[in-house]
Amino acid sequence: MDLRFSGEDQAFQEKARTFIERNLPADIGEKVKGGLRLYKDDYVRWHKILAKQGWLVPEWPEEHGGTNWTPVQRYIFLEEQARAYAPRLVAFGIKMVGPVIYTFGSPRQKQHYLPRIVSAEDFWCQGYSEPGSGSDLASLQTKAVRKGDHYIVNGSKTWTTMAQYADHMFCLCRTDPNAKFQEGISFLLIDMKQPGVEVKPIRTMDGSQEINTVYLTDVKVPVEDRVGEENKGWTYAKFLLSHERSGIARIGASKAQLDKLRQIAAAEPCGDGYLIDDEDFRREIAQIEIDLHTLEYTELRALTASAKGEAPGPEANVLKIRGTELQQKISELLMQAMGYYAMPFVPEALEHGYNEDPVGPQAAAPLAAQYFNMRKTSIYGGTNEIQRNIIAKMVLGL
Ligand SMILES: Cc1cc2nc3c(=O)[nH]c(=O)nc-3n(C[C@H](O)[C@H](O)[C@H](O)COP(=O)(O)OP(=O)(O)OC[C@H]3O[C@@H](n4cnc5c(N)ncnc54)[C@H](O)[C@@H]3O)c2cc1C
Repeated sequence: MDLRFSGEDQAFQEKARTFIERNLPADIGEKVKGGLRLYKDDYVRWHKILAKQGWLVPEWPEEHGGTNWTPVQRYIFLEEQARAYAPRLVAFGIKMVGPVIYTFGSPRQKQHYLPRIVSAEDFWCQGYSEPGSGSDLASLQTKAVRKGDHYIVNGSKTWTTMAQYADHMFCLCRTDPNAKFQEGISFLLIDMKQPGVEVKPIRTMDGSQEINTVYLTDVKVPVEDRVGEENKGWTYAKFLLSHERSGIARIGASKAQLDKLRQIAAAEPCGDGYLIDDEDFRREIAQIEIDLHTLEYTELRALTASAKGEAPGPEANVLKIRGTELQQKISELLMQAMGYYAMPFVPEALEHGYNEDPVGPQAAAPLAAQYFNMRKTSIYGGTNEIQRNIIAKMVLGL
């Protein structure tokens, strides 16, 4: 196993880096670096820049707009985006429903929906979780009752990220109330801009509107917008979750945040010198560096296996757990580095243009919000406790 990048991969890295440096709008990069609020326009602008280059959906099959890059090249591309403080790509269309549609969808669904994802025209959201169903997703209660060539959908979905921006939601609904748990669920594509769909924000601790509850009341969904077979939606849902996990470690983003931490610590007075000279603080930074390095090797090992066509093993779950723990740890150290400057919650500091100073006390204003926001990472995409259960089953056979 050779974990170094080949010459070809290094050339690819250079090409990706140059493109991103030339094309990432400065205001978006500043927002990401500063931990500021991003809005739909920021995400869509970056998506469209990548779409124009043909790089928005690299992992898709070429016939649908993919690039035929190797898994290592795809990893490099994600790393380079994070390094340059590009916004995270919104996964719902690109990494979730897109692969479900090109794998299981009808010819009409492929023809209609896929090009609109590839060109960043449509914005999607994910309707899985419900007020009573999260980790235990198979207990979901939203019902879809067939009436002729439509389903009538009633129920509610919650924690729905960016539903306020979405044109469509892919949604798990119960189509057979008598079937047990995983059976009797169907995978529907719902137009969000129609009567009966109501999106209500859930304000998070950092004051932002990132997640929502979506109420569905007598919503009409054409039967032709059901993906695959009726009552077999669980199969497609599981397939989608395996895609969701890839890239979830966000190693590149953590490295970029660590760089920011170093810059802040180098400017923060401490004793006769600066915080970066403090032995205890240096030890904390060194530990994160070691952990990130180790995690990167795990990711590269997983990529090497996937390049050989091997099925993902427990590494995917390890990556989720350790990746999110490290993201949280860095957000804690950023708070520590700025001390009491990081304490006040200043909502306007989260908007672009509030602060010109990248390292001084004003730069601390968004840190508390960022710290609170990072708590989510060990919950979404399957909580870290559930990931540990999966590892126990796969590795220990428990
Ligand atoms: C910021 C954010 C964005 C999200 N976005 C979306 C989205 O866009 N679409 C969507 O569908 N969902 C979304 N989710 C929902 C997310 O998938 C769920 O929150 C998650 O699956 C956990 O479900 P729950 O919140 O109902 O918690 P519960 O399942 O009730 O869990 C509560 C606690 O119990 C623990 N627990 C539960 N069962 C077990 C077990 N068997 N063993 C050990 N511990 C257990 C959990 O780990 C957790 O700590 C989002 C969540 C967050 C926080």
